[in-house]
Amino acid sequence: LVSRKWKVGRTHIDLGDGVVIGDGNLSIMAGPCSIENEEQVQRTIDHLVKNGVRIMRGGVFKPRSSPYAFRGLGIDGLKMWYTLAKKAGIKIITEVMQVSQIAEMYDYVDVFQVGARNTQNFNLLDELGKVDKAVMIKRGISGTIEELLYSAEYVFAAGNEKLILCERGIRTYERASRNTLDVNAIPILKEKTHLPVVADPSHGIGIREFVEPVALAAVMAGADGIIYETHQEPEKAASDGQQTLDFEESTNLINRLKKTSTLL
Ligand code: PEP
Ligand code: MN
Repeated sequence: LVSRKWKVGRTHIDLGDGVVIGDGNLSIMAGPCSIENEEQVQRTIDHLVKNGVRIMRGGVFKPRSSPYAFRGLGIDGLKMWYTLAKKAGIKIITEVMQVSQIAEMYDYVDVFQVGARNTQNFNLLDELGKVDKAVMIKRGISGTIEELLYSAEYVFAAGNEKLILCERGIRTYERASRNTLDVNAIPILKEKTHLPVVADPSHGIGIREFVEPVALAAVMAGADGIIYETHQEPEKAASDGQQTLDFEESTNLINRLKKTSTLL
């Protein structure tokens, strides 16, 4: 069902208020790895609004490798974020980690993100297939393109066609970068499916200075959107500071993304 053999034309996802993913737009989704407090959220929203970015990312339920690391503010953090984002006309994308969270998050989310550690959580995918809300599925840490497509198929087959795919880097033998963003996956996914394809250069390379070139490469390869991490003080971020842009770097990236997308 997610194959281009099944559907003529490309899927685009209308989040309302003029925010559309796919359909020739380059969607920029930016924000911290984790939502930390009200001040941080407001400062991020101000930064996004100033730069014309309409979708904010951020984690409230964080899948951390260590159980002792910061695991997010949870549902109360999401409600606080929602109140501030709604006032500013900003849409929210955030990770849902388990089935029981779907209902409590539902009213405060515009796009449910399925993280790389949950790409093959088939029960979660089944349930997200039943909701009337957009879903972005990240490629698994060691997942093949085919496995990502089967994961998308779970959601689509259960009835939810508002789906976005995300290349976020895979684990390879290379240790010079956190992951290896598979630029190849972008044209392949766009050839195989009718779904919008987004790239995550932050997790894809994991090194702040190199987020921009990787993001630009993904756009040139045909990505419909870029999702990346930004924070007013990356050194103090509760998670993933090493790959997080400060607002100045983020502004530069946004400007270059906009310029690059007009070249296509
Ligand atoms: C994230 O987006 O912060 C995240 C945890 O990503 P991933 O699931 O790709 O590791
Ligand atoms: Mn992160």
